[in-house]
Parts: sequence; structure tokens; C-alpha cells
Amino acid sequence: MFFRDIIGQTDVKQRLIHTVSGSRISHAQLFFGPQGSGALALALAYARYVHCTRRGAEEACGECPSCVKYDKLVHPDLHFVYPVALSKDVRVSTNVITEWRQAFLENPYLTLDEWFGRLEAENKQAVIGTEESGEILRKLSLTTFEGEYKIMIIWMAEKMNLQAANKLLKILEEPPDKTLFLLVTESEDQLLRTIVSRTQLVKVRRIADNDLRDALVQRHQLSADDAAKMAYQADGSYAAARLLIERDENAAFYLATFQKWMRASLKFDAQKVIASVDELASIGRERQKQFLGYSLELVRDSLVLNYGDASLVRLTGEELGFVQKFAPFVHKANGERFIDELNTAAQHIERNGSPKIIFMDLSFKLNEMLNVPKAV
Ligand SMILES: [Zn+2]
Repeated sequence: MFFRDIIGQTDVKQRLIHTVSGSRISHAQLFFGPQGSGALALALAYARYVHCTRRGAEEACGECPSCVKYDKLVHPDLHFVYPVALSKDVRVSTNVITEWRQAFLENPYLTLDEWFGRLEAENKQAVIGTEESGEILRKLSLTTFEGEYKIMIIWMAEKMNLQAANKLLKILEEPPDKTLFLLVTESEDQLLRTIVSRTQLVKVRRIADNDLRDALVQRHQLSADDAAKMAYQADGSYAAARLLIERDENAAFYLATFQKWMRASLKFDAQKVIASVDELASIGRERQKQFLGYSLELVRDSLVLNYGDASLVRLTGEELGFVQKFAPFVHKANGERFIDELNTAAQHIERNGSPKIIFMDLSFKLNEMLNVPKAV
């Protein structure tokens, strides 16, 4: 992660670079920015720049021994603290450092949901627990290897429980020499006031639409038009934009699956219903939620086509062709229930219910709903 890998955020990058060139590095800094703005990535690029032994005026060198270790996040003076799902085996961040390195290197704009997906702990509570403070002290007591500074990045600092936060506060009150704390948060107001007051604020804004658009063109080969539309929808979050891209990539599959499933449910062809349910059960929870979201959009579009301003239906090609055929089955007598049932199913998936049972149950309900006569 280099400054050049950060999307937009030119001002804040410049300010961070100046703290190094002017030797005004404050020992505790709070990177505060909304999800998908790149606050964590920025903290990492900054840490690399601070540690780089041959840094240029604007960027780390990429080749010195420190930079080489940063490429794998194995620099001995770089430490991480992040939320985990506490269990018998996982007490502190270090217990899942391998997963962490992998997750961040693949996606420096990682969200907490994505991180917990990686840990297969989607429904567990995300905590930076009490034992973490002992671990922080242990890491700080290690001798520095090569860097001038020890750098401790605390991601999602708002997830510190009260004991951990109080202990961190004590450390920040008597800061060890040559130690740099980079706290990263999405909700500054959930942090202890006393911690906030001991840190220098680094405000990271939503990514500007133009910057996000350009990044989508370069990194995802989108056309300028598509990228502009998506950047607008993603509202300054690269994480949200990535989800939209993934959804688009899966749209053809979702449409085909939805079509098959509706046909099977309409007449309740048991064999075909079971085939659809099995297929849906096998695609994983994230995509199941995405599929239900996609289904919801088709239902809403059908209702708009029937009762609203048809020009608001932005579908084209196969999707439009399908919705035109599907729309007569969704109307005033069942539209609301359609939306409720799809939402409920998505919630049950979210809460770790059995996908097979949820989709089978929904198939029976779809059979009822699809056969409700259209009110006159
Ligand atoms: Zn370097």
C-alpha cells in the first residue's frame, strides 16, 4: 500500500507527507473516515512512508528492506490491532494475523463485514477485547528492529471494549518513546472522549465522485459512463462500489436463477423447486443475500412497471424482457407480501438460518403469492 494506491484524498495525503518532511509526526493520530473511504489504507501508506529508509518527497521507495517487508505486512516494527470474534482460541489480534495479512493485502479497503466473512464469523460480535491491551504492551516492549519508530495501527478502534480503551488511554497518556499510534475509526463518537482528545485528528472524507469514477475505469475496466453512474450510487465508498460491481458481474446468473425458481414455484413442480433450492443453498451466504436483494429489485421494478412511471425502470435487454413478462404476477393484491417475504428471508440468511429451509419455505410462499388473482 503506497500513497499512489489511495483513491483521491489528495489533501490528506499531502498533509501526512508534510508531517514526515517537517518532522512533526504526532505520536497518536486518529484516522476518522466513513466506510470505504480508505482510512485504513491511508494509515498503512503513511506507516510505510514513515518506515521507509529511502523515502522520496512524495512516496516510499518500494525497494528498501523496510518496504520489502511492508509488501507482506511483516515489518517487525509494524503492529496491528483489529476486532476479532472472541473464542477459546482467539483472544487477541495476533491469533489471526495470517488471515489478517491475507485479507488486507487482497483488499486494503476491507470492511468489518468482509473481515468477519473471512473469519467465518459473520454473526459474531466484533470486539477488541481486554487482553489486547496486554498484547499491545508486550509488542511495545519489543526492541525496534530497523525502523526508527514502532507503529501500532488500531483498526475499528471504536470496537475496543471499555477495559481495553481505558488501558490504551493510560498508554497514550504516557506515550513510550518513538512509538506511533494510528487509530482508525468509522465512528469517532463511539470512542472515549479522553482518547479522542489525546489524538491528532486526520479527517478522511468520502471519495470525491470524480476520483472514484477514474479509479473504477482504471481498476475495473468500466466505461466512463458506467463508472460515473456507479461512483454516484456508491456515494464516495470504494467498498460500496466493489459490491455493486460484484452484483453486476453476477446479474446474469441471478436473473437466470430467479426465472427458473419463479417458474418452478408458480406450478410447484417439486423436482424443479428442489433443484432451484439446492442451487441457491450452494452459493454462499453473501451471494444469497445479494440474490435476494436482486430479486427484490425485480419485484419493485415489476410494481413500478404496473402502477408507476415506467420510465423509472432502468432495465435493459434480458432483464427488461423478463420483468415485462413477470410484472403481471406482481400486483396490489400480493406486492407488499412479496417484498416482506423476500426481506424476511434475507434477514434469516443474515442470522445464519439454514439456507435450504429458508429457500424451501419461501418457495411454498411464492407458490401462494404467484397464484393470488390480480384484484380488479
Ligand atoms: Zn522504502
